[in-house]
Amino acid sequence: MTTGAPDQQGTSWPPVAADHPALDLLNTIAQIDGNPVDSWICDEDVVRWLIRAGWYQAGAIAPAQMRGLLRVARALREIVRTLVSARKNGGKVDPEPLNDFLAKAPSHSELVCEEAGLRLARRRAIKTPEQLLAPVAESAAELLAGDDFTLIRKCEDGTCTMWFYDRTKSHRRRWCSMALCGNRHKVAAFRQRRQG
Ligand SMILES: [Zn+2]
Repeated sequence: MTTGAPDQQGTSWPPVAADHPALDLLNTIAQIDGNPVDSWICDEDVVRWLIRAGWYQAGAIAPAQMRGLLRVARALREIVRTLVSARKNGGKVDPEPLNDFLAKAPSHSELVCEEAGLRLARRRAIKTPEQLLAPVAESAAELLAGDDFTLIRKCEDGTCTMWFYDRTKSHRRRWCSMALCGNRHKVAAFRQRRQG
């Protein structure tokens, strides 16, 4: 596998367009020119993704908390990928690896006083990579426990490995994103019609 997307400048890569954070997690590996490209090559890449995906605010993660994050994040990504694929294909789903992960990141409810009244918050320690990634793991667990998986699909492009949650009204979403696969197919279909 090659690492680092070719157009990785700026903050637009990897795309956060799956409409579900657990699927965005899977899409941090994308096929580019037929090769899987991992947009995470160091701990800082994972931190940047966590911030861009909205899990943490910029500056909220200290360097000491990042140590080993890449290895743990990649492991979580493959645990979730295996489970999502198994659930989608109707195969045997083994939740143990994800449960092991969740067990390393306990949290508790906390009642918080605010001007507008009381709010229920979740208090968690964020000292280890597992604890940093716990909200992502919990979101994946919620997705997997959902009763309808028909709206969770892979991009229709045969070479693309991206997943998405189809939240369109018509439920006819076909592509990971228009910018990536959608436009390419629109152009190809247009050419075919002209030639035909
Ligand atoms: Zn695609």
